[in-house]
Amino acid sequence: LEASYESEKSLASVSKDGVAVEILMNAGLALDMPFLEQTGAAGVGLFRTELQFLIGSQLPSVATQETLYREALDLADGKPVVFRTADIGGDKTAPYMDHGNEINPAMGWRGVRMAVDRPGMIRPQMRALLSAAAERTLWVMFPFVTLPGEIDDIRDLLDREIDRARRRDKALPADIKIGAMIETPASAWRADLIAQKVDFLSVGGNDLAQFYFAADRDSERVQRRYDPMNPGFLSFLKNTVEKVSRTGTPLSYCGEQTADPITAAALVGVGVRQFSLPAAFVGPFRRLVRSLEAKAVSDWLEAHLHAPEVTLRPAFAQFLKDSG
Ligand code: PEP
Ligand code: MG
Repeated sequence: LEASYESEKSLASVSKDGVAVEILMNAGLALDMPFLEQTGAAGVGLFRTELQFLIGSQLPSVATQETLYREALDLADGKPVVFRTADIGGDKTAPYMDHGNEINPAMGWRGVRMAVDRPGMIRPQMRALLSAAAERTLWVMFPFVTLPGEIDDIRDLLDREIDRARRRDKALPADIKIGAMIETPASAWRADLIAQKVDFLSVGGNDLAQFYFAADRDSERVQRRYDPMNPGFLSFLKNTVEKVSRTGTPLSYCGEQTADPITAAALVGVGVRQFSLPAAFVGPFRRLVRSLEAKAVSDWLEAHLHAPEVTLRPAFAQFLKDSG
């Protein structure tokens, strides 16, 4: 990480006109955790727990999972760590899971669908999370939600694990915060209903853009059709952010498109106030936020969200340059 950013890590991430933006970081290994201190990120907004599931030749044991989660929480030293339950399937296949013969695995048996259908996998993970976060706050987030009812199903499983721990006199977390990822157009469209069932939401922009554009996030041939600076996509996000903000449920954005400062600025412009980014981009993003006039950015976008262009990137980049 660049030293000049490290010297700015305690500066407030507030725009020139006083809009506060909370900056968290993405992680997936204990090795990532020291970046919290180095970058000054406010916490881990996305801890991808499936990494541990994908590197082994079998499901990690409860003890192995618990050790990692406890280590992550210890290293976070009181900052929140949002554990995203194993998002297996789609682009993340585990050798020991039978995914069947799916022609479209990205739209197949993955994320929370697998968790609800195969509780034998999620329940040990919940057990490990509950135990690792004993006497602390557990933040747990479920990937690839499409229907509000999936939250009820997953809560039911979590409640059973809580009961199980109680019956065994195990120490439980002091508080449990449940979140849903908004990564499909179906959940974005119903984000206000989902928001009422959870404590927080996080937009997984990598997947959300993939399904919005019906363009594979990893296919080079359709890369130019997968552009978060598309005015339709930005207006879709703005609509989602506004719907959710009326419910009072906090919403973050954890898609990696924020690695691009122009896109990150546009996301502030459509109303996102909390971000989780790869560690290397925390410092650059803080500096960017501090240079922005958030109101001017959002006014500019508002005036261009119905533009016929495929992408607002060049025009918006010019606007940012002109406005210093
Ligand atoms: C996303 O889809 O934007 C996301 C953060 O999750 P992942 O990239 O792990 O699918
Ligand atoms: Mg995703």
